[in-house]
Amino acid sequence: MTDRQTFVIVGAGLAGASAAAALRSEGFAGRIVLVGAEPHPPYERPPLSKGYLAGAADRASVFVHPEPWYAENRVELRRSTRVTELDRRRHQVVLDSGDRLGYDRLLLTTGARPRTLAVLGADQVDVRYLRSVDDSDRLRTDFSPGARVVLVGAGWIGLETAAAARGAGCDVVVLEHAELPLLRVLGPEVAGVFAGLHRDHGVDLRCGVTLTGVRPAGPGRTSSATVHLDDGTELEADVVLAGVGVLPDTDLAGRAGLDVDDGILVDSELRTSDPDVFAAGDVANAAHPLLGRSIRVEHWANALNQPRTAARAMLGLPTSYDRLPYFFSDQYDLGLEYTGYVSPGGYDQVVVRGDPASRQFIAFWMSGARVLAGMNVNVWDVTGPIGDLIRSGSPVDTARLADPGVALADAVTTSPAP
Ligand SMILES: Cc1cc2nc3c(=O)[nH]c(=O)nc-3n(C[C@H](O)[C@H](O)[C@H](O)COP(=O)(O)OP(=O)(O)OC[C@H]3O[C@@H](n4cnc5c(N)ncnc54)[C@H](O)[C@@H]3O)c2cc1C
Repeated sequence: MTDRQTFVIVGAGLAGASAAAALRSEGFAGRIVLVGAEPHPPYERPPLSKGYLAGAADRASVFVHPEPWYAENRVELRRSTRVTELDRRRHQVVLDSGDRLGYDRLLLTTGARPRTLAVLGADQVDVRYLRSVDDSDRLRTDFSPGARVVLVGAGWIGLETAAAARGAGCDVVVLEHAELPLLRVLGPEVAGVFAGLHRDHGVDLRCGVTLTGVRPAGPGRTSSATVHLDDGTELEADVVLAGVGVLPDTDLAGRAGLDVDDGILVDSELRTSDPDVFAAGDVANAAHPLLGRSIRVEHWANALNQPRTAARAMLGLPTSYDRLPYFFSDQYDLGLEYTGYVSPGGYDQVVVRGDPASRQFIAFWMSGARVLAGMNVNVWDVTGPIGDLIRSGSPVDTARLADPGVALADAVTTSPAP
């Protein structure tokens, strides 16, 4: 009888909150305790670098559930509480108060935390990161007309933050070590679109540069820091923000002896190497049945959907997580969705439908005649057909795939793939 059981969820972000909801909708009537280190109820992070940072969305809009939802659904939300130890032998977690909490099944949704900037002087300067709503609040205050903002890293967070900072009238420099923004994710064929987009909006985008250090600005300077580049350039900054990736928060799992390798290793039911412990969201490195490999996905849709599978598995119901990775981004007037998975350099051509110069197109990453991933930019209502092409693994005619006059489903060829 699960009615008398206690399910504990560690990590009160989107994945934790989604898991609590999924357990209830699957009919679990037992005790649910959701433990979160942050002082806030679970909230969504995407607005923190977009509408919320820009002041267009209010705080109430970022929360996953309205505050009364937790009591109404008998979910014990323990905020500002960190789990410091996982005692698998006793089926207990230890809280930072020293209290112990027993569990029948445990779900780890501890997410990820920003990778810190590893350059000389980074510990002497107030280098900012953007992960929490408090980080976003602070940036929002500092983004004022004329403020000098130096962003390190032209990944999704760096670029979205650059767009918000430009919207607030800041002078923005983006520093990127690679030759183009988002190069590792998109490849050279498409990454150039984002270089053009940001330069057209007045961002001073510097690619192929190496940061050698940051220092507190000297006496008499109005800025808060000086950023040094390897070519001798010195940049004065009021705000230095690093967007150099995240690391999965596997501390607890690793110390408890669970299998960990770039995230907590789980099977397709999201079960860890301990049959009573599960993991989902940014922290989970999950076996993906369709892709035939394990992947860790740091995106909103994964944190929303994986917990539904985890909840079913915790209840002993048949399940498997085989959704295609999906993410979205908004920068200025460009909106995009990306569906599928490509390992770095793991494609042999990019087929484009539409004109990238107009910033309205779909790009497809191909392996031979098969579509691995697709990204629609300012083109909408196509993620279903794109996902179908990827899932089916059917060979496509690349000329038809590139032709906006052909329905995506009709790009499939009947001749055998090479
Ligand atoms: C600024 C920003 C913008 C983003 N934009 C997009 C976007 O446009 N599109 C997209 O697809 N994705 C986006 N993402 C990614 C998306 O938000 C994440 O994939 C998602 O938040 C992951 O949710 P999670 O619940 O797995 O982890 P998290 O959101 O990291 O939550 C984990 C929680 O667990 C807590 N925790 C950790 N350890 C413990 C412990 N021992 N005890 C108690 N609590 C603990 C943490 O404090 C945290 O609150 C964005 C992320 C950020 C930061």
